[in-house]
Amino acid sequence: MTALSAASAAYIVAGLLFVLSLAGLSRHETARTGNGFGIAGMAIALAATIGLAARDLDAGATALIAVAMVAGAAIGLWRARRVQMTGMPELIAILHSFVGLAAVLVGWNGYLSVERAGAAQTEVPENLLGIHSAEVVIGVFIGAVTFTGSIVAFLKLSARIKSNPLMLPGHNWLNLGALVAFAALTVAFVVSPSLGVLAAVTVLALALGWHLVASIGGGDMPVVVSMLNSYSGWAAAASGFLLDNDLLIITGALVGSSGAYLSYIMCRAMNRSFLSVIAGGFGNEGSTAAATEDGEHTEITAEDAADLLRTARSVIITPGYGMAVAHAQGPVAELTRKLTDKGVRVRFGIHPVAGRLPGHMNVLLAEAKVPYDIVLEMDEVNDDFPDTSVVLVIGANDTVNPAALDDPGSPIAGMPVLHVWEAEDVIVFKRSMNTGYAGVQNPLFFRDNTRMLFGDARERVDDILRSL
Ligand code: NDP
Repeated sequence: MTALSAASAAYIVAGLLFVLSLAGLSRHETARTGNGFGIAGMAIALAATIGLAARDLDAGATALIAVAMVAGAAIGLWRARRVQMTGMPELIAILHSFVGLAAVLVGWNGYLSVERAGAAQTEVPENLLGIHSAEVVIGVFIGAVTFTGSIVAFLKLSARIKSNPLMLPGHNWLNLGALVAFAALTVAFVVSPSLGVLAAVTVLALALGWHLVASIGGGDMPVVVSMLNSYSGWAAAASGFLLDNDLLIITGALVGSSGAYLSYIMCRAMNRSFLSVIAGGFGNEGSTAAATEDGEHTEITAEDAADLLRTARSVIITPGYGMAVAHAQGPVAELTRKLTDKGVRVRFGIHPVAGRLPGHMNVLLAEAKVPYDIVLEMDEVNDDFPDTSVVLVIGANDTVNPAALDDPGSPIAGMPVLHVWEAEDVIVFKRSMNTGYAGVQNPLFFRDNTRMLFGDARERVDDILRSL
């Protein structure tokens, strides 16, 4: 078997492992195995690619690759060990930016080594040069949009910049204008490849990526994260065409399409159309204006909350980002066990965009060993609130905001939410009257059947456990 066919066989195996990985990752019970398939696939892909490349490389270049891989692996391991669960979204965003940057560099390298060097110097036949040029320009464009878009997402998710949308006058026209200019520049580059045109495309795409994500505000960020995930896949696929690497094309297409599907799921969960998110609508107008208090709230102590729970028939817990910040999942799981032992029916209601990452709450609850069968999706639990004695809202805010249904002027109007207020009693665990991620005040806190239990969610749940 030649090295080339051995590598092709390895690529097919790696591609299949990636498909199995995605299938595994779609369910809690199989997610760990899915991850294992992904790791195995990537190990095979790396070994095959490097084995193939090493045939044409001298010892110095091979050593350079080895050094880069060891350094990259060490940094990756260090970051993965240190990152907190609450820091995952921004870590993912910055990793997407690396894929974008790599695609830009591969595109530029393609130009310098083929079009710039002259077709005669390369293996690209004269009649396919136009296709190569199109691959260069498209790869650079998608990569550059992904790169700056992901950097803005990283800055917003890590609260290094405000999550409020940037509202330049005529922002939709700016985006449209950039796309038209890109189409014109692509034609110009394919007809006559030049450094100036490629530089113009790069700058245009960098600016477009920045503007696209900067103009998306608050509540729409979940869609942005999954959208950038998808873009990073297409950027990798574009690099695959340029590098003539089938596995990179397959992997990029898998990531691109699964990211696109995730964006669709997120949009459906938030009752938004994908185009309107991209055009920067949701969570925009007046998100700070809405953050004013509008009533009196009532507090409760942990002891009184424990009394309510003791006499409850059924309890629904709706966790949110604050549970992740407080690392309260362990005590929450303990509370669930205690109440269940006392004969109380306890279930969880999970909003699709709770936390800062798709599946964020499910991961935390699985880590705390909460049984999967009592962790229900929003749609499965929303009709059950009227028959529920107590709802514990643990560090959730936007996902339980009735203004999304009642107030058409609210920045989160139209987003489906958990109908917690329909229960007999609602206890909200948070530290203050501050707003959630979308910056919108929550009328739930001022309802007659709502009690606020202020303080760190983990400490307050521990207090309740002691009282019980
Ligand atoms: P929110 O961000 O709306 O609210 C979280 C609440 O937790 C805050 O109001 C905060 O109040 C409270 N909190 C923070 N720390 C603690 C603590 N230590 N103890 C107790 N409470 C605490 O959370 P939700 O999960 O309800 O909503 C998620 C939001 O994030 C949505 O707007 C969603 O669109 C957005 N988003 C989601 C992503 C995803 O993929 N899931 C990605 C990006 C954004 P206080 O400060 O008073 O304690």
